[in-house]
Amino acid sequence: MDTIQNVTVVGAGTMGNGIAQVFATQGFQVVLADISKEALEKAIVSIRTSLDRMVKKEIIRGEEIELILGRIQTSDDLTGAVRHANLVVEAATEKIDIKLELFRTIDKHAPAECILASNTSSISITLLASVTSRPEQVIGMHFMNPVPVMQLVEVIRGYSTSDEVTSEIMTLSAKLGKSPVEVNDYPGFVANRILMPMINEAVYTLFEGVAGVSEIDTVMRLGMAHPMGPLALADFIGLDVCYSILKIMQEGLGNQKYAPCPLLANMVTAEMLGRKTGEGFYDYRGGGKELVVSTKFNRKE
Ligand code: NAD
Repeated sequence: MDTIQNVTVVGAGTMGNGIAQVFATQGFQVVLADISKEALEKAIVSIRTSLDRMVKKEIIRGEEIELILGRIQTSDDLTGAVRHANLVVEAATEKIDIKLELFRTIDKHAPAECILASNTSSISITLLASVTSRPEQVIGMHFMNPVPVMQLVEVIRGYSTSDEVTSEIMTLSAKLGKSPVEVNDYPGFVANRILMPMINEAVYTLFEGVAGVSEIDTVMRLGMAHPMGPLALADFIGLDVCYSILKIMQEGLGNQKYAPCPLLANMVTAEMLGRKTGEGFYDYRGGGKELVVSTKFNRKE
């Protein structure tokens, strides 16, 4: 367990920056790698903002911010970034081809004893492991968004993942202050197998004109005590991520019930991806705290 000191996080988007922050906060040396320099710059700004928020909430002390940031190096050179890693957590775009290529490269350049974890929401860990020379050291470490706040880590055992690696990752997740839950490797695992059909059904409910954006979200918030409505949550996750997960479940489980709603597909094509692009079901460009329904959806019939 103490063998893990150097952690490389690959992908500095919504999830990668949160994962880097959580490891650095617990004293690990982190390399945060991305092909996009802009994503790396944005990630450091997001981490600082998140740490500032934690100081305000008295979760950490002000003087810890620079210490934590000092443990995070950024890199746009993947091969160099994994060279001294004891653990790699891959959190790049949810596309099978991208992840397979990444796992091939990481496997070639990371030390032999390094554990390779993926934060994938739905892609088979067994498939990712199959392109490496160390399938017993490949595992799913599925953090939830926002990573510094959410308790759960879904730990996914691939077909070949060893007992030792599983137990090491369970212990490590607890050391990060999280509650790990071990699950088996089937498309969507548990979290998204249950969450994504609900989000997709909410999009269908809008698509079919049953109700508007805020009505759908209000029903689920006030009626089911969900902290966030499903459409606001989809914007938060990223509509492209939701779309990819549903496609992977549709194909992997061979069931049309997971097919993404045509409205979701159109929004992804139009790059209305939610918070990260400024507009999804809601419009975030005003920067205010109140959710404002996108003009695409607030027109009366
Ligand atoms: P994102 O689109 O915000 O970020 C993905 C990042 O990966 C981008 O910065 C991109 O430049 C980078 N990237 C793409 N190809 C790369 C490569 N070859 N090498 C290095 N970096 C590369 O995506 P995200 O929402 O952070 O999702 C990342 C992973 O986490 C996905 O597997 C997703 O399914 C999973 N996940 C997402 C959420 C969520 O709520 N968004 C929750 C849990 C898990």
